[in-house]
Amino acid sequence: MAVTNRKGGTGKTTTAVNLSACLAELGNKVLLIDLDPQGNATISCGIPMSDEDGGSIALLTTDKTTRELSCVGPVANLTVVPSGSALAAAEMELNRKKDWERILRTKLKAVTDDYILIDTPPAMGPLTLNALVAADGVIVPLQCDYLSLEGLREFASNLNRVRANLNPNLSLIGLIKTIYDERPLLTRHVAAELDRYFGAKVFSTAVPRNVRLAEAPSYGLPITLHASSSTGAGAYRQLARELQERLN
Ligand code: ADP
Ligand code: MG
Repeated sequence: MAVTNRKGGTGKTTTAVNLSACLAELGNKVLLIDLDPQGNATISCGIPMSDEDGGSIALLTTDKTTRELSCVGPVANLTVVPSGSALAAAEMELNRKKDWERILRTKLKAVTDDYILIDTPPAMGPLTLNALVAADGVIVPLQCDYLSLEGLREFASNLNRVRANLNPNLSLIGLIKTIYDERPLLTRHVAAELDRYFGAKVFSTAVPRNVRLAEAPSYGLPITLHASSSTGAGAYRQLARELQERLN
């Protein structure tokens, strides 16, 4: 599953990390791949950023296997392929390689985990494209503001282009309302528009704005360990169950 949205700050990384942790808590074997040079998912898992010989950088640029490049995650059943700033340079050179859009897909073929989540950068560049070609489905975290709706139109056409040219099996798993505060009228208006256009594709679980979710990365812990009884932990646990049902 690729966790994507071209906009930054929509809760991609928070969702990738905490959904992974909650799916792992449910007993699934989960692999989280950090494909953003900022390494926010890596840091959020308490793992050091990798240099150019490790993590997702080496995954895309060398013959090393996913297993060789993955680290023990912060909870049982969760392993992580970390990232680092060298991934930005690797991205610029990626399209000189043969079949560069399929590198990640090829690397993930041998992985036997129940779920693979890929955190992506806020851009529709070679890294995100590799994630969309490797994935069976896409998860889109978004904030309920006007500009998020604008971006979705373009996102839908990008998705169609990837399906037509590179990955016909790519499905839209669902949209997640994140950093959600239902008090403002605008939020309710945008949420209603989302439901109208995307219907059942919108997860019924929304992730509320919760300060515990924002502070968890500074401890290098997913929300289930940092604040297990917080509303944020409850939301991601519920989301993990909803996702499991949706995929079964
Ligand atoms: P992205 O990966 O899309 O750029 P992040 O997951 O990094 O977005 O989230 C952007 C910022 O908002 C981060 O500082 C994060 O800690 C914070 N954040 C994300 N989700 C929530 C939430 N539900 N409540 C409060 N803060 C959140
Ligand atoms: Mg991010």
